[in-house]
Amino acid sequence: MNNRVNPDLPRELREFGIRDWNECYHCGTCTAICPLTAQGFLFPRKTIRLMQMGLKDHLSTCVEPWLCYYCGECSEQCPRNANPGELMMSLRRYLTSLYDWTGLSKKFYTSKVWELAFIIIFAILVVLTFIFVLPPLDTTLTPQGGVKVNSFAPFHIIEYFDWAMAIVVAGLLVSNILRMYYRVVWQGTSNKVGLLDHIREFWHLIYNFVVQPKFSKCEDKSYWLYHWLLMSGYTIMFILIVVFLPWFQTEKIHPPWHLQRALGYYATIGLLIGLTAAIIGRLKKQEFKFQFSHVSDWLFLVMLTLTVITGILIHLFRVNGMPWATYVSYIAHMAILVPMILIEVPFSKWSHLAYRPFAVYFARLQKSAMTKTA
Ligand code: SF4
Ligand code: SF4
Repeated sequence: MNNRVNPDLPRELREFGIRDWNECYHCGTCTAICPLTAQGFLFPRKTIRLMQMGLKDHLSTCVEPWLCYYCGECSEQCPRNANPGELMMSLRRYLTSLYDWTGLSKKFYTSKVWELAFIIIFAILVVLTFIFVLPPLDTTLTPQGGVKVNSFAPFHIIEYFDWAMAIVVAGLLVSNILRMYYRVVWQGTSNKVGLLDHIREFWHLIYNFVVQPKFSKCEDKSYWLYHWLLMSGYTIMFILIVVFLPWFQTEKIHPPWHLQRALGYYATIGLLIGLTAAIIGRLKKQEFKFQFSHVSDWLFLVMLTLTVITGILIHLFRVNGMPWATYVSYIAHMAILVPMILIEVPFSKWSHLAYRPFAVYFARLQKSAMTKTA
């Protein structure tokens, strides 16, 4: 690993909104107070020190910013107002751009114009596809009085499209996670990690993805609940539209307790609760975790909220037999959903959902390597 000071590092960090790291005089208060220190990490001082020294290569191997669950206790206690909690959040954006081989993550995090331009271009392409490619409108209703949504957007065509999107996004995320693995586990440990360690620690990845236990360490337990509802609602909806679309996008109107509708309702309600809590928190700015909002935070919230609202409208118009309203809502829904999936998930705020559980897994692998060294 390169131990030379990189003079460009401060400029690069500032592009991602990282400030105030030079205020830190290493009193150690944040390390003493951070609950993660008990797990063997020098939190968050070690990363601040690497920033101050300009050691970019060492910084890129840090897994700590991903383990931080942004409780803000360190920032509240810092005598120099260096805001270490916010430094960790901003560093997550910087690290995301280092893992991403396409360079788009950096463009989107550092330029509103780039991100908005890509979102608008994808949205226009979706609308044009509906206008020119899909079959002519059928405004007759089903025998139950519902809209023939599959005559407008046949599920087998939408399903191919969903799969193509899922493959592209998964390919980008997996390749970037492999780059993260290379930096954190391969370059970041002096002792190599064995195959058995990889297998033994793997359950941490699954557990952390499903349960999101780190957020439950915050004093305010409702934060974990909102985060979990948002994450589980999003995951269920993603699986329904990518894996089970023929079962989910039906013309038959099932009773509300049918599994198809019950799952859809759970995902929608979970998303709405999580989004409402996040939006109100960011507008009020009373709690630490909502005080500093990057433009990517708002884009993620606004796009997901619009996706959920248009999804609800499709459902209401469909079951109440309103074809034109259903079709317009469907196009609007896809025009927001597609750019959100293709831009936000692999390159921006949504990618954190993947990086966080992998970071816990990689941190466990680092620990295994350190135990061997000891
Ligand atoms: S509490 Fe503040 S000044 Fe002290 S080590 Fe942490 S960031 Fe630096
Ligand atoms: S914000 Fe992060 S670094 Fe600071 S105390 Fe909380 S978990 Fe530790």
